[in-house]
Amino acid sequence: MPYSFKCKDVGMKCGFEVKNASSEQELMEMIKTHAKNAHNIQEITKDLEDKVRKAIKAK
Ligand SMILES: [Zn+2]
Repeated sequence: MPYSFKCKDVGMKCGFEVKNASSEQELMEMIKTHAKNAHNIQEITKDLEDKVRKAIKAK
């Protein structure tokens, strides 16, 4: 089941998106790396993680 995520769905002005991640865990890791590198977010807070999880689409 592929998972996808768009950074703009959490309110960022950012074109980052991931398509076809094989698991939610893998996707979260990619998002954490992106958040650190692109948005200087060193740690995903619980609030942000909830936001991210709601923006993740599984299809
Ligand atoms: Zn982004």
